[in-house]
Amino acid sequence: EVILEAKHVTRRFRTTDGRTLLANNDVNLKFYKGETLGLVGESGCGKSTFMKFLVSLDIPSEGEILYRGKDITKLKGEKLRQNRQNIQMVFQDPTASFNPKMKIRDIICEPLLNFGRIKKSEKEENCRRLLELVELPAEFSDRYPHNMSGGQRQRVAIARALALEPEVIIMDEATSALDVSVQKTIIELITKLQREKNITIGFICHDIALIEQCAHQIAVMYLGNVVEVLPGGQLSKDAVHPYTRALMGSVFDINMDFSKPIENLEGEAPSPLELPEGCPFQGRCTKCMAICKKEAPQMVSLTPDHQVACHLYTESAQK
Ligand code: SF4
Ligand code: MG
Repeated sequence: EVILEAKHVTRRFRTTDGRTLLANNDVNLKFYKGETLGLVGESGCGKSTFMKFLVSLDIPSEGEILYRGKDITKLKGEKLRQNRQNIQMVFQDPTASFNPKMKIRDIICEPLLNFGRIKKSEKEENCRRLLELVELPAEFSDRYPHNMSGGQRQRVAIARALALEPEVIIMDEATSALDVSVQKTIIELITKLQREKNITIGFICHDIALIEQCAHQIAVMYLGNVVEVLPGGQLSKDAVHPYTRALMGSVFDINMDFSKPIENLEGEAPSPLELPEGCPFQGRCTKCMAICKKEAPQMVSLTPDHQVACHLYTESAQK
């Protein structure tokens, strides 16, 4: 069941010197009920730009974001406010979104009070219930964010995001600032909560090995373009786009499938201000052909749940 769908989403920014930055270029993605979609790519590739549309922090220049079939980019006023209950977000650095003068109890219960779901007198019990969900002791309700570790703060951010029982949670590099071992426990927690509550998760991450552990579906983004969408879990066997392979080559070692060549990333990503004609990855691709410099590759389906945009797989390149 598709809960959330991006259709032909494009976002252009105008720079002060009058040039156009294409941050998202015709992005099409589907989020399925109770599943995690992992969006992976290097920093600056347009992942956060895209996720902001899902939580109504920005609207695309073109295209639609459908939540349960309704375009949320058109919502305004009270309807927009009400819709925020359905799709919540967890940021990389929760301290930046927490008021340091507020106790955990108030931080966690703020959305519940804002939407009139609970009375002030019900704060303590609701805070305890939510702390328990994220496996933190009830006494934490009386603490301030600065008296907690990074991992504990991220659990508070998750508790706060869960408070309204949203159908979708977007996590933007939500574990990136944490130690590897803490990252692992947070991912285990999210996975457990997802199973219990059937939550749909959008997980943005620059680390493809981490995303592979928790995503049902993986979308790879390069310079604002989704270049490959495939099921999570069997990446080393299934991924075919030269960029996805390169991303994996930089993190995989003993688990690597050596039946396919390993490529390394060479060169710098071009600026999204000066995108070349043709394939956005041409300048760093070891498989680049003449057609790659002329035509942008269209998405083709290799299987019903595996799409790739690369001329190695398009018909026009075979001619
Ligand atoms: Fe490489 Fe060409 Fe495929 Fe782009 S279209 S990834 S340049 S082979
Ligand atoms: Mg980002």
